[in-house]
Amino acid sequence: MFADLHLHTKFSDGTYTPEELVAQAQFHKLSAIALTDHDTVEGCSRAAAACAAAGIEFIPGSELTSEHDDIEVHILAYFVDTTNAAFLTEIAKFQTARQNRIREMCAKLNAIGIGLQAEEVFTLASCHSPGRPHVARALVAGKHCRSLDVAFDRFLKKDRPAYVPKFKMSAAHAIELIHQAGGLAVMAHPALNHTDEIIPAIVAAGLDGIEVFHTKHGPNANHRYMDFAKKFNLLVTGGSDCHGMSKGRPLIGTVKLHLDYVEKMKAKAKK
Ligand SMILES: [Zn+2]
Ligand SMILES: [Zn+2]
Repeated sequence: MFADLHLHTKFSDGTYTPEELVAQAQFHKLSAIALTDHDTVEGCSRAAAACAAAGIEFIPGSELTSEHDDIEVHILAYFVDTTNAAFLTEIAKFQTARQNRIREMCAKLNAIGIGLQAEEVFTLASCHSPGRPHVARALVAGKHCRSLDVAFDRFLKKDRPAYVPKFKMSAAHAIELIHQAGGLAVMAHPALNHTDEIIPAIVAAGLDGIEVFHTKHGPNANHRYMDFAKKFNLLVTGGSDCHGMSKGRPLIGTVKLHLDYVEKMKAKAKK
């Protein structure tokens, strides 16, 4: 009885539709999944319907891009009311910022002679939360680059010519937004963002949980963040961060969270 609580679809930078994702969850015999697309909850209703048909428990969620002390931190939202007006209004601002960022990246590419238009990226992305992976895919599709890695290395990474920083809300604001929508706020993949020193401040801002288990966390990270969870009395979560085929291979099924942890989340969400 296992769950995967960190999954992306085409509604952000994953490649699966919600239905394809749920079919994969079924294939891997998962009992519960959460959808956590970046700065959006648009895929949740379709994923919920597909899960209901497949007999899989569905947890509505999102992954909010935020920062604290100039350190990027992703805050996962679970059990949020996906119709909450304040939540939807606030994330819509982030979707607009993401679209503007694509325009800026394309302008920078154009300035160095790469003829990629923002509209091409939007057409390819066909979602409200486009990001750098979509620009990379458009560069490959337009034969400007051989591969996604080359696109990032030559143009899109930090300090490369088409890099544009992300617009982020403060972590405290993200947590507040999630709470007022009835959800739980969980710090995503702490080892990836080197966020250890800011954990106490984020906990003070009302953090509910920490993603101990993640594809890119080795055994050392698992132990380390399990200790943080105990020390700060945080819920323990985990997920594969599957983006479908966009990162080479689908990761769903590689991280399996025991359902006991999900039960603890449900108990806290009810309060
Ligand atoms: Zn993330
Ligand atoms: Zn993610």
